[in-house]
Amino acid sequence: MVIKKTSKNTIRPSTHEKILEVRAYLLMGYCSSIITLHTGFSQKRVRSIRELLKKDPELKEFLMDAIAIRTSTSKTIISSPVRQLHASFLLSFYMVINKDYSERVDLFKLARAYGYYISYFYMDSQNTDIEPITINEAWALANELRSREAFMLLCKACETLYFEAVHQKSYREDRPCPWCCVRQKESP
Ligand SMILES: [Zn+2]
Repeated sequence: MVIKKTSKNTIRPSTHEKILEVRAYLLMGYCSSIITLHTGFSQKRVRSIRELLKKDPELKEFLMDAIAIRTSTSKTIISSPVRQLHASFLLSFYMVINKDYSERVDLFKLARAYGYYISYFYMDSQNTDIEPITINEAWALANELRSREAFMLLCKACETLYFEAVHQKSYREDRPCPWCCVRQKESP
């Protein structure tokens, strides 16, 4: 049997699959630095795939504005009890979907959890003056959970899980649990 030598320009299936994976991550709203970490593609390569997607009239509307997306940490994300409550809500979904959350961040599963969170966020009319957590912030929080820089703790008072990061800003009031904290504020 003669095996044809593949030309230099032939894209191996694995590379092609990886490009499709990068496209999917871009359409989910992840920024290039996160995609680089998860795929091994350079930021330049991710940006060039992004440029190609921008030319697709049917897909470009799903791309996030490149300027609006950046990575951050719980230090800036968790700025109030309400923001911590949002993080707790989102990461609770994520923990259910990704049983291996303490081993690795799964971008597809995180996007699914984020989808649940954001649909609840927009269903709640009380959220008009609160900015939702972005998918890139969700990644930062999920990554802190993985690296044990953050934990889901069980509140002894309300028996609900809440997200707490080692480096989160210390706005601390008398209650560590955001659910109890927000409830206390609503019913003084
Ligand atoms: Zn509580």
